Amino acid sequence: MKLPKLRELLEAVTALIKGPYTSPFPKKPFNPHPNFRGQYKFNEQKCVGCLACEEVCPSGAIAHKDEVVNGKGARTMVHYSDTCIFCGTCEAACIANNEGIKTSLEWELSFFDRKKESFETIKKELQLCELCGDIIGCKDHLKWIAEKIGELTFSSPTLYQARLQDLGVIDENLKSVVKDQGRSDRIKILCAPCRRATTLTTN
Ligand code: SF4
Ligand code: SF4
Repeated sequence: MKLPKLRELLEAVTALIKGPYTSPFPKKPFNPHPNFRGQYKFNEQKCVGCLACEEVCPSGAIAHKDEVVNGKGARTMVHYSDTCIFCGTCEAACIANNEGIKTSLEWELSFFDRKKESFETIKKELQLCELCGDIIGCKDHLKWIAEKIGELTFSSPTLYQARLQDLGVIDENLKSVVKDQGRSDRIKILCAPCRRATTLTTN
């Protein structure tokens, strides 16, 4: 008969005293290591809706949908946990100090209905052009740009008007009734084509 090695004996005695090495899950909840890289999740407060994460995601696990209803726009950001490969590229590229989307300790990814449960969403408010109603970007993104460039914000009517609205200095529901083919429209929140149209004229 082959005798057990000393190491095997030691392991057997240790297991008798300490209990099994394996996790008792599912009898007891499993707590992963603090450095575990689990499901990626958006942080609605930190995310500014810039779409950089969607641009860099190698597996197409991030998407967005813009909707405009009754003059109000909203961007829905979507993260699909069933196609995410946990590479961390989105977190590395996130302009909001890498906190708009982050790994979490959530590891349980099983679900019954893939179409309804395999994704999470957040919503961001959109800034629309005051002339044509086209989408300019997320309001939080404009605020982020204004904070980054500081006083240079005053070189762009769109940025400083959006910033004043955000600060509550001007009411976003107040619209100028003056239409003088461009001049008063220039001091408005405009998309690029409308900005061009109010600045340049052709004969
Ligand atoms: S972790 Fe990688 S695959 Fe998953 S959403 Fe982020 S970039 Fe995409
Ligand atoms: S702020 Fe970060 S999480 Fe939000 S859209 Fe931009 S890159 Fe993605």
